[in-house]
Amino acid sequence: MLITPAQLLDEPLSLNESFSEGSLDYAPDLRQVGPITLKGLAELLVEHRGPRQFVQDIRLRASYSGEFEQLCARCLEPVRRRMEGTFDLIFRPASADSQAGEHSITEDETEIGYYEESGLLLEDAVREQVLLALPGRILCRQDCKGLCSHCGINRNLSSCQCVDEPVNPRFAELAGIAIAHKG
Ligand SMILES: [Zn+2]
Ligand SMILES: [Zn+2]
Repeated sequence: MLITPAQLLDEPLSLNESFSEGSLDYAPDLRQVGPITLKGLAELLVEHRGPRQFVQDIRLRASYSGEFEQLCARCLEPVRRRMEGTFDLIFRPASADSQAGEHSITEDETEIGYYEESGLLLEDAVREQVLLALPGRILCRQDCKGLCSHCGINRNLSSCQCVDEPVNPRFAELAGIAIAHKG
């Protein structure tokens, strides 16, 4: 859903959206299960930067909730979890700060994002919030035994006869995927 300043000129826009599974791209180790719901409000904030110069910011306040599957950092089995959160963000037109000397992001303005000329894509904002809220690594259980670094077998499910031989780099790399993400 694209939100444009023109839509918000007269009054704020109430949001009551549902994003179906597969409509947003997350990270390689994260999958949305079922729809995400989002409720909130988008409104226009006008920044005056000079007598005839103003910038149309979009303020987005919303809460979301959805089910996700993230891969266990050790055994790579999907772990189901519910994620929900609220956010209050301001999006400024990307062109507004692009001129030299106009880069006005200060430390207390770190919550500012940007939207492209076409408008603010709500899906992008939601995806970013989910990724920010995501823990760097997750375990299917505290004592997950992980994958055998030699043969790749899931040691929670079965055991193998491997002894200490050189690590198969392919499985070491696989096991590292989930950890490397936002690690
Ligand atoms: Zn595990
Ligand atoms: Zn093994």
